[in-house]
Amino acid sequence: MGEAAGQFAVGAGLGKQVPGLLLEGSYGVGAGREAQRRLVLACELDQRAGELGGVTALQAVHALPAGDGLLCALGVVLDRGDGVLRRLRREQLASAGEMVDDAMRMREQHGITTFKVKVGRRPVQLDITACRALREALGDDTELYIDGNRGWTAAESARALHQLEDVGLLFAEEPCPADDIAGRRWLVQHSNIPIYADESVSRAADVTREILGGSATGVSIKTARTGFTHSQRIHHLCEGLGVEVVIGNQIDGQIGSVCNAAFGAAYEATSRRAGELSNFLDMRDDLLTEPLIIKDGTLPVRQGAGLGIDIDEDKLRHYRHDG
Ligand SMILES: [Mg+2]
Repeated sequence: MGEAAGQFAVGAGLGKQVPGLLLEGSYGVGAGREAQRRLVLACELDQRAGELGGVTALQAVHALPAGDGLLCALGVVLDRGDGVLRRLRREQLASAGEMVDDAMRMREQHGITTFKVKVGRRPVQLDITACRALREALGDDTELYIDGNRGWTAAESARALHQLEDVGLLFAEEPCPADDIAGRRWLVQHSNIPIYADESVSRAADVTREILGGSATGVSIKTARTGFTHSQRIHHLCEGLGVEVVIGNQIDGQIGSVCNAAFGAAYEATSRRAGELSNFLDMRDDLLTEPLIIKDGTLPVRQGAGLGIDIDEDKLRHYRHDG
């Protein structure tokens, strides 16, 4: 094991007000803290969470500052007043200028040179403009790819990817729903940019179905979603099928990021390109005695036993929440 290259996500819903918890599930309607708690528990325990549509961002209602009523992530918001999830027009979210500022700051402070751009808004021109602005500001030696979280239709995805061909994207992740089976296959066949599956491949069997069905050309592996055991199965399956992979992020804290980094650094296929390891930078605090540091775009894998980390017992007591 050595080092894992870092990557940073910019885009709609991934700005400063982003919550510490992001679930790829469609249980996006609830009322109040109890519903939210159930939602979290359900998604953690329910394997279907990874298959369901839409990205839902949640944060404990009580953690929101007074007057800051809305949390946004790809069009889904949690309203503090009544706890009801409502939809925001996606174009109200991060602007191209804010994305550029975020990316420049990450490159300056942490040496990160690979950026995932969250897209999937309508009209697609909003995201095309943002990608162009990022490429122009960051230059040709920066790697960019996009993640639509199924926000577009297959036709919108095709139009966007066609217009983005000269931007030089590595790949496009879940631009349209995998459940639109014919449309997604059509997109994969017609796109010059590889199409990666993320929330549609939460188990090895999903990988087999999506890849052999022609609905994806690459796969995102997340240890927060599939643990080491099933992540390993997915990795080996992809290796056997000759499918490219990327290490993804579930808005991991530092412990989750250590897991992702260790797993990513362990295999040639997962260390070939930058992994998604930087979301913990948006969090104010964590539980490790020795915080993670991304320097020059790399996150060193710890050398101690196991993951090489120690939990700060005082912080654990402080943040512990029962019930
Ligand atoms: Mg994704």
